[in-house]
Amino acid sequence: MKINDPQSYLDSLRTLERKVYVLGERCGNTVDHPLVRPSANAVAETYEVGAEPEAASLLFTTSHLSGREISRFTHIHQSTDDLVDKILMQRLLGRRTATCFQRCVGMDGFNALYSVTHECDEAHGTPYHTRLKDYLEWVQDTNVVVEGAMTDVKGDRSLRPGDQPDPDMFLHVVDRTPEGIVVRGAKAHQTGALNSHEILVMPTTAMREGEEEFAVSFAVPADTRGITFVLGRQPSDTRKMEGGPLDVGNPGYGSQEALVIFDDVFVPSERVFMCGETDQSGKVVERFASFHRQSYGGCKVGVGDVLVGAAQLAADYQGASKASHVRDKITEMIHLNETLFCCGIACSAQGRATGAGNYEVEPLLANICKLNVTRFPFEIARLLQDIAGGLIVTMPSEKDFDNPETAALLEKYLKGVGSVPTLDRIKVLKFIENMTVGCGAAAYLTESIHGAGSPQAQRIMISRLANLDEKVELAKRISHIED
Ligand code: SF4
Ligand code: FE
Repeated sequence: MKINDPQSYLDSLRTLERKVYVLGERCGNTVDHPLVRPSANAVAETYEVGAEPEAASLLFTTSHLSGREISRFTHIHQSTDDLVDKILMQRLLGRRTATCFQRCVGMDGFNALYSVTHECDEAHGTPYHTRLKDYLEWVQDTNVVVEGAMTDVKGDRSLRPGDQPDPDMFLHVVDRTPEGIVVRGAKAHQTGALNSHEILVMPTTAMREGEEEFAVSFAVPADTRGITFVLGRQPSDTRKMEGGPLDVGNPGYGSQEALVIFDDVFVPSERVFMCGETDQSGKVVERFASFHRQSYGGCKVGVGDVLVGAAQLAADYQGASKASHVRDKITEMIHLNETLFCCGIACSAQGRATGAGNYEVEPLLANICKLNVTRFPFEIARLLQDIAGGLIVTMPSEKDFDNPETAALLEKYLKGVGSVPTLDRIKVLKFIENMTVGCGAAAYLTESIHGAGSPQAQRIMISRLANLDEKVELAKRISHIED
């Protein structure tokens, strides 16, 4: 059965029989839990054609495997145009939801594995590429959400996976049978874990000889026996459980991360895409990282569009929009946001074909993109707070606006421009609070630093990919310096 629209997506999540914990309690139906639902709504938007004229051509494309129409979130990029369209799709969804819509990690995962499994089969005679293609065709035809799981919990960072006192700090194979493998370990910060039907596991780092048990990649249904999910907290998250929408700031949408624990989980052979090929593991990490560092040049830009709009609205509502410093600050926000977009487009336009025939992004530019994303959203948020004013964190609660004893007083004393209802001013300020210090900041700020790898990971790749020797030669030639 194919999931075709937001409602059938939400319904399909209700059929999963998973072991999930939310705020210390077992949660059977995550979709209807107020803490989780906004994040499911954000993923549901990936199934919604929507009103934007360009949306259908961005959200849907043609499978190179079956020739059938599929979601771009299940697509293997076939050209640089596909890579650019991916960015445009992510910007569009960021604009719709103002948060992380969670479905890109799986997409970036199987695009990375597509070329690596091909190369692995050539080097080792393994059957992984055909298996992956069979799996992908099933994913495309059912249109399920696949969560990409890379980051291990890692234990003592000074020790290699095989040297950890507890080997489960890195997900690893604990048993092999003729039918498949058994794995144990945990993946941290798993974006969209509770909103996914499938989990695609990849190694977290380049493995070395002797670390074969840790060089493992596979896919399993999210409700496979032995998997436990524990939802992560976000600042101000329980406002979603208070009933009213005002204090939430972005009541419709949210993001979500969870700790996903694999306690002796069986994986059938047909879903294993790497098992012991240590020389291939680093390539998965680097290619996945490049794809996901590209992604941030789309999704965070879409969120940035909404924040620029919020800055203008807040200024309009308090009568400050004509002040030259406010106009300057909004222009600076736009400049920063569009610079990120330029990076996302550039690494896509400069993409190239792999030996497997799919297209990957230009890795240096993808790393530049993401390193900028670790900084610019913070400056955008700072400018937004500057324009909005301190009221974003001193505002009374929704309940005070509902209480007849205080409502009229708040309506009078929190008024900005006369023609604007006080509550509209409060709504945009609550949204800015959410996005800069509340749970929205988890997706817009903290994820911008650590998602797809922390800044140091990008610096390492940039210094490795930049070809500094060639630049030195250029300087020598221009300066007439001879060795
Ligand atoms: Fe997609 Fe961006 Fe969320 Fe990553 S952070 S899953 S790219 S929306
Ligand atoms: Fe992310």
